[in-house]
Amino acid sequence: MEDARVEAAAQVLELIGDMDHAFACLTTMLARLLDVPMAVFSIALEDRHVIRAAHGLELRECGREGTFCGITVAGDELFVVEDAERDPDFRLNPLVVGEPHLRFYAGVPIHSPSGMPIGTLSAIAPHPRSLDAAGRQSLCDVASLVEELVLLRSMAVSDPLSGLYNRRYFEELLAREWRRSFRHLQPISLLVVDIDYFKTFNDVYGHAIGDDRLRDVSQMLKRQFRRPGDVVGRYGGEEFIVVLPDTPAEAAIQLARQTCREIEEAAISHPESPYETLTVSIGVATADSRDDLQRGPHVLTGHADRALYEAKRRGRNRAVFDPSHALRRATNSSI
Ligand code: GH3
Ligand code: MG
Ligand code: MG
Repeated sequence: MEDARVEAAAQVLELIGDMDHAFACLTTMLARLLDVPMAVFSIALEDRHVIRAAHGLELRECGREGTFCGITVAGDELFVVEDAERDPDFRLNPLVVGEPHLRFYAGVPIHSPSGMPIGTLSAIAPHPRSLDAAGRQSLCDVASLVEELVLLRSMAVSDPLSGLYNRRYFEELLAREWRRSFRHLQPISLLVVDIDYFKTFNDVYGHAIGDDRLRDVSQMLKRQFRRPGDVVGRYGGEEFIVVLPDTPAEAAIQLARQTCREIEEAAISHPESPYETLTVSIGVATADSRDDLQRGPHVLTGHADRALYEAKRRGRNRAVFDPSHALRRATNSSI
């Protein structure tokens, strides 16, 4: 249960990575509504709270041990301490004795789109105060707005069937990783993954089972490519795309081959395939020269698509590396 909660929390943290302004507005709004100097939106990971937005507090993160936010997440309900110095449970708490010398705390859990308590929205004051029904309602209302924003973001960027990034957001992330690679002149690789003979798989087992297996393949891809910066997206239908920043051609092709093997070894029966199990074909391409990086991600996507076509042509269940790469390497100096 705690593992699933931490995973959901980490996922939300990734999803809302670039939403600083929206959450800063909401914490400021909460501080004003409740007339407290500090308001915080934090996400509870395994060992620490990451402070995602804060009004009146500089802290970026803190440990989980003995925190008021931790109690709110664990209890999964509104938690109020009106005067911590007078409360024997909290009077010696480090956050009461030391910075920020908390006396008043009111927090509500924030839930992930899947309903897990992943963090808190808290109002904090260094002086005691009470919180009436209207104040409690305001806190819960702002928390609902935070949850709504997280939900809308999750719907905007992910594909509902697989939970992977959708094509639109994937392209945004690819552009971001591409800019980073160009700045540091680092190689970047792309994998286009397509399930083999999937039409006949649906014909044999039906669309619902087909959907389940699409989810399985998505999870396998997500498990395999989890280095920071790796991005896995569903490009449409039974096609996926993976960006591997700072990954040269040799490593990318190795990883792609390993992916083909793992999916074959999962041994999902497919009686209409010559391999008798569900398999994938992968097209791999790498930008590893200044010229390649200058051309932008769409050129590389084209190379990976052509490599995928070649993998299909050669019999499927294999990874093929972009045939035009060697030609380009002969004329461009690689980085
Ligand atoms: P190939 O080995 O050449 O890739 O053959 P294929 O049958 O996989 O390719 P084709 O493009 O002919 O058909 C793709 C099939 O993928 C068509 C459709 O039945 C299936 N498909 C696409 N999206 C979904 C989906 O969301 N759910 C399910 N169950 N099937 C899907
Ligand atoms: Mg296919
Ligand atoms: Mg296809």
